[in-house]
Amino acid sequence: MPDLAPLSINLDLTTACNYACDHCIDWDILNSKVRHEDEELRESLRQMAQRGLRSVILIGGGEPTLYPGFASMVEFLKSLGLSVAVVSNGSRNDRILQAAPFFTSGDWVRLSLDAGSNEVFRRMHNPSKKDLSLDEICSWIPKIKAVNPDLLLGFSFVITWTGGSRGEVKVVENIHEMVDAANRARLAGFDYISFKPFLERQEDGAEVMDPAKTEKDLQAVIARIRDNIAAARDAAAGSTFKVLESTNLRVLMAGNWRDYTKQPKTCHMQLLRQVVTPLGTYNCPAHRGVSKALIGGKGVWAAPQDAQSETSRILGQFDASHECAEVTCLYNGTNRWLEALIEASAPLPDEAPADESGDWFL
Ligand code: SF4
Repeated sequence: MPDLAPLSINLDLTTACNYACDHCIDWDILNSKVRHEDEELRESLRQMAQRGLRSVILIGGGEPTLYPGFASMVEFLKSLGLSVAVVSNGSRNDRILQAAPFFTSGDWVRLSLDAGSNEVFRRMHNPSKKDLSLDEICSWIPKIKAVNPDLLLGFSFVITWTGGSRGEVKVVENIHEMVDAANRARLAGFDYISFKPFLERQEDGAEVMDPAKTEKDLQAVIARIRDNIAAARDAAAGSTFKVLESTNLRVLMAGNWRDYTKQPKTCHMQLLRQVVTPLGTYNCPAHRGVSKALIGGKGVWAAPQDAQSETSRILGQFDASHECAEVTCLYNGTNRWLEALIEASAPLPDEAPADESGDWFL
């Protein structure tokens, strides 16, 4: 294996969370009390940055702003010249405000809010601070923008509907609040709202998108989603605010999502993007916390040669055509493209590499 690190990582700073969302995909690994050692983590990040790491997304498996010294970690990542993004539940926007001065153009913070009303927000998220409201969370947005207008702020909305479940737990429906949420986000000063479908984690640990039990049910849900997105766009017409659909929502609506479940045997993305968590380092966010997807310990990149040899092992060992056969993988096209490139042993086509877009997030 060449002396390389992943181009992009998902970094779970903590497994602790102050919400108890009924739709949480990482429920089984939350609040597991294992922690990063701050200096070991920084050394891993230094080593990766020297070997090609370009971006870090501070995200899941817990709430990143609960990490002690969250703002200091953002400052450190920026000092390494990395692009940085944060996915937060919005409960500690004072910490986002502290970190705001360090972000640069192209960086983003996305809040997972999933509701248009305070009532549905509280029922879905069960925040430990019982009186926390969407009103309060959104009131921070102008303050954060005032400190750093370059930081892109997103409102994320996972669409749930009757019939969805996490194991035995039925999820609270929010599909009827899509338009209210978009209006609220626009008026609060967010740059965009992003809609995505609810994913369920199977027994083998993979996140899958097979939400409706029958084709008829699925089509009815899709029609409602489409109407709501059109209404949200109409309401935002003439403003700079964007109403976005996640890639997996687009393929769900286009009806071709099963095409994204046919992976090649080797997943090349395992080298380009990894997930560093307090529980260990994994090959993909879709398999966070799953033992067969484990590359090494949480600090494996502090010793790059070990991490590289473990990455090489999992590239040979992990059969994506089997392990990800139920996953709607957004990197399916990338993996197929890389596979074809390797097999062809031919010169790159004229259009590759494309012009650099400056977006290093994977
Ligand atoms: S094939 Fe897709 S889902 Fe499977 S490990 Fe690779 S990126 Fe993840």
